[in-house]
Amino acid sequence: MDTVPQDLLDMAFAFHGHKCPAMPQGLRAGLYAMALLGVARAQAGELLARVEIGRHHFSGCFADGVMAATGCTVGKGNLEQVGFGKFAVTLVDRQTGRAVRVAARADRMAACLDQEFFRLRRAGTPPQALPPELVDPLIADVLTRPAADLFTVQSFPHYPLPRVAEDFDAVRCADCGELVVRGYATELSSRWYCPPCRDGRLHRPARAE
Ligand SMILES: [Zn+2]
Ligand SMILES: [Zn+2]
Repeated sequence: MDTVPQDLLDMAFAFHGHKCPAMPQGLRAGLYAMALLGVARAQAGELLARVEIGRHHFSGCFADGVMAATGCTVGKGNLEQVGFGKFAVTLVDRQTGRAVRVAARADRMAACLDQEFFRLRRAGTPPQALPPELVDPLIADVLTRPAADLFTVQSFPHYPLPRVAEDFDAVRCADCGELVVRGYATELSSRWYCPPCRDGRLHRPARAE
């Protein structure tokens, strides 16, 4: 749990698109949570990750590291962004119902915010334009510290998790003709509509016939 395999790191940076310390922090958090639970990377829906980052704030890249490490992704439907504006992930092992929440230590996170890296980011410099001599030491730091120095941990012996079956039904929208998963479609006068076409239909002003 205290090292990141090089091939995982390479894959994650290629996927993420730039070098920053928050993505590797998410990698470390995901790997730590997996080690604590004793689980392997999800091939399908074996694990569920709830990341607490929100939108439009620093270090949101944390979530991409969690995805790369755990295999919990938007496409598999097992990555949820709960949007608390916090740097934490809860990883649930669906098989056993056990879970751990791994959260960045506040003192370290606050110290990072005082670095030149974050001052430039705050001033509007995109991460890919930052000089490597500012970024690389922060990445090296987050990759080499013991996980227990980076994160606090909470354990849940039985994490409450609703079981929702995957929806394999779909219908053709009567307006746009596109396929829509039935659970998202609405039936009006025995015809099916996708959400935007349904809204368009409902909001269309009544015509005098
Ligand atoms: Zn990033
Ligand atoms: Zn439609």
